[in-house]
Amino acid sequence: MVIEIVVGFYSNSMALQAEGWHMSSHVFAIGLSWIAYIVARKYSDSEYLSFHREKLLALTGFTSAIVLQIIAVIMVIESITRLINPLPIKFNEAIVIAILGLVVNSISAMLLHHDHEHTDHNIRAAYLHVLADGITSLAALFALTAGMYFNLYFLDAISGIIGSLVITIWAFSLIKRSGIALIDLKRMK
Ligand SMILES: [Zn+2]
Repeated sequence: MVIEIVVGFYSNSMALQAEGWHMSSHVFAIGLSWIAYIVARKYSDSEYLSFHREKLLALTGFTSAIVLQIIAVIMVIESITRLINPLPIKFNEAIVIAILGLVVNSISAMLLHHDHEHTDHNIRAAYLHVLADGITSLAALFALTAGMYFNLYFLDAISGIIGSLVITIWAFSLIKRSGIALIDLKRMK
């Protein structure tokens, strides 16, 4: 994730930056949930404090989704700017890291695709998500490769926009789910 973002900036590749930020969406989500679990466990036996565990998790999910949505908006603006005023892309460096990202993605998919996959819904959902991520990684790699051979800089910018839209879809569904949990939404009729 860090390598994709750093090399994305260095090589002027929006496709790679979008990949990196997408990965950070998973790191944010998992990291904040992890912190929430630690906090929940630490104070669960306290006689002085009481709170709802689910709400703490929802709050962390909501926060990470808002942060990522802001990043996605900045990326779309930056990608559109590059469409209008293209910057020279260091294709070789960007392609090497895009391949590395695809390898990491494939390893994640293989790790999630074990026997429990058929019984555990969370693992199955994660597996399907990683598969979908693999397709966007392939698209980014394609955009960079075609861009290098045919000197088409706009493919990278379009790939950056698509990557930002994928983050937006993810962020929206998380804002909706965690928001419903935060306000205790119930249908009365
Ligand atoms: Zn993903």
